[in-house]
Amino acid sequence: MEPFLICENLVKIFKVANLEVVALQGLNLTVQPGELMGIVGASGSGKSTLLNILGGLDRPSAGRLTVNGRDLLKVSDSVLDEYRRTEVGFVWQQTARNLMPYLTAQENVELPMTIEGVAPRKKRAWARELLQTVGLWEHRQHHLAQLSGGQQQRVAIAVALANRPKLLLGDEPTGEVDNTTAQDLLGLFRMMNEQYGLTTIIVTHDPQIARNVDRVATIRDGSNSSEVVRRVTDDVEATLTQDARETTAATHVYDEYVMVDAAGRLQLPPNLRAELGISERVTLELADGGILIRPAAGLQPIVSPEAARAASDSDGGQPSSSGRAKLGGWLRRLGHDRRESRSPGGVGRAQTKEDHEEVNE
Ligand code: ADP
Ligand code: MG
Repeated sequence: MEPFLICENLVKIFKVANLEVVALQGLNLTVQPGELMGIVGASGSGKSTLLNILGGLDRPSAGRLTVNGRDLLKVSDSVLDEYRRTEVGFVWQQTARNLMPYLTAQENVELPMTIEGVAPRKKRAWARELLQTVGLWEHRQHHLAQLSGGQQQRVAIAVALANRPKLLLGDEPTGEVDNTTAQDLLGLFRMMNEQYGLTTIIVTHDPQIARNVDRVATIRDGSNSSEVVRRVTDDVEATLTQDARETTAATHVYDEYVMVDAAGRLQLPPNLRAELGISERVTLELADGGILIRPAAGLQPIVSPEAARAASDSDGGQPSSSGRAKLGGWLRRLGHDRRESRSPGGVGRAQTKEDHEEVNE
């Protein structure tokens, strides 16, 4: 199946006076048709910037972006405008941005269709269906001020779907409501996603979102660093009713992944970096079918040119074919020495002098 949405190496730079703010730096994201996913990240990590770009409200500075088979970097302004109006539904955190205060709930849902010139009868029928689906048909004559925060966001979801978009985007849609209402709203997003086959992306700073969506990507400093995928274990799934499946959080298994980009780069989580004292360099080692990453502490003084020369002399002054290979040898041997001094038992595959000389030859 072709992915619905592909971001490759997405970069967004804002220029403010003489300053450049890099809001997205090489973000990669693939979303399947009909997928329901969450994006979490600290404030300022680039979540809204990404959502605005996905929704055609802004353009990236570089990279590739394909939505529903269309290259959004290449389209003209007018095509992008039409894309935003007809193919994307947006739900914002601030209800004021979603709804017109002087219109009723029903008029709000009908407005985008009026703008697109939908025939009155079709327009009313679809507005009615949407308001019924979000549970607010009884409140259709109410204005913004007569609705609770949660109800306003329900109307906002109906408004977002008025033009039958394929992509539904929510930027902190539950940011201004209490916890219970937030759960209800996320449930409604899921229902819309299933009922209308909408590809849905919800941005939030609430890590609890993982319970409500299929997959959560974490953005850190404008780049996606990890993903959590929720799965229900097969044997348990078979015994569950639909209701139980939705409410039995205990049966869900969360798999967390660190993302690796096309160039093989990955981000080490800050808490692990701090815990292990990892700064600029690490050593990699094959272990148990995986890669063991260790902090390369204490290397700095020895890699200085003088120290490297001195070490080379003590090694018999063997000329090497490449300085770079030599440095690699030093680094590796130093890593070995340090490990040995820490664990006299010599755990793991110890690096020997022979290994080092192999590198130099
Ligand atoms: P989030 O939604 O995750 O809080 P944003 O996408 O709003 O983050 O912002 C990411 C970074 O880009 C921040 O440093 C923010 O200050 C900056 N930024 C966002 N929009 C603009 C803009 N229009 N002009 C200048 N800088 C911006
Ligand atoms: Mg934001």
